[in-house]
Amino acid sequence: MTQVVENIGGMTVRARPLSSVDALASVPSAMPAPAATPAPPPAARPAASGIYIGASAPTTFARILIMFRRLTLVAVIHLCVLFLPFVYFSWSLLFATLFTYAFLMIGMAGWMHRYFSHRTFRTSRAFQFVLAFWAGCAAQRGTLWWAAHHRRHHAFADTVDDPHTPALLSFWRSHMAWIFEDAHQPSNYKWVRDLARYPELRFLDKWYWTPPIVYWSCFALLGAWWGHAQGIGAGVGSRAMVVWGPVLGTVLAWHATFCINSITHMWGKRRYDTGDDSRNVPWLSWFNFGEGWHNNHHYYPHSANLGFHWWEVDPGYYVILLTEKLGLIWDVKKAPPRAVEGQVRRAKPRPEHFERD
Ligand SMILES: [Zn+2]
Ligand SMILES: [Zn+2]
Repeated sequence: MTQVVENIGGMTVRARPLSSVDALASVPSAMPAPAATPAPPPAARPAASGIYIGASAPTTFARILIMFRRLTLVAVIHLCVLFLPFVYFSWSLLFATLFTYAFLMIGMAGWMHRYFSHRTFRTSRAFQFVLAFWAGCAAQRGTLWWAAHHRRHHAFADTVDDPHTPALLSFWRSHMAWIFEDAHQPSNYKWVRDLARYPELRFLDKWYWTPPIVYWSCFALLGAWWGHAQGIGAGVGSRAMVVWGPVLGTVLAWHATFCINSITHMWGKRRYDTGDDSRNVPWLSWFNFGEGWHNNHHYYPHSANLGFHWWEVDPGYYVILLTEKLGLIWDVKKAPPRAVEGQVRRAKPRPEHFERD
């Protein structure tokens, strides 16, 4: 397959294979023609991948300082996991870990990804807010921020405009470090106009720490009650419940989600020629609620099921089906047989997916 090779900022990068740029080429704004006369040097700006283009990019030291500031809270939460051996333990506390992990992964796989990013089913405005709050508890910022970056990932997968491609970035940078870079701080509404028209979603996107604070506070109160009932004291119970529940569960859910950015674009099988590096990683689907069927998903991103066959375990889809049975969501889109058999043209995302910043 022919690949486009570009030299940007002195760095040779691999762009999207030619066979998959047909959709991009059909959108005039996506591929501007080169200027006839040399343009003045642009101001330094980071591309979506975080690679700076221009003459006066911040120094490496300044970028490290900025990233350090953004990293602090995430680093502290990670460090708390190291103190687990020093926190009160009871087997019943592991239920808090499992509950939090499952709750947050359903929020990410079922709601943040398959609803807000890809709109694979419909629901009421009230339940949409519930889903946004639920997904927000995973502390991965708001639905607008997450969906905007994810839609961009699909539109420019594994090119320089992909926010988190391991084809161009290191493993850890594509796994999670990209989140802290300047280029990825704003929620670019033009990628999520369909969501940004709801003020309640804009509110949750701006005040994205609200759901995690509420969720963590509930566990602190529950732990205080539980500790008192156990006779170990409300303070000990509260600390133990928070660390074993939201702290450990959130860190696990973070990395289960981040593996989609890194592992599923590096190792695994490619059933479909998607023109990018997406891969199916079956073992990962057991942990991240079906998101490991990433090559399936890149091939046909408009279906709620990422597992295309009954043996392709997809817990996120099972939760969606259960929620549909309860009447809370409807019009759940399933991958048609022609897509499963690889006989459809690679699905094109909606037009706004092709707008560059
Ligand atoms: Zn997706
Ligand atoms: Zn991907």
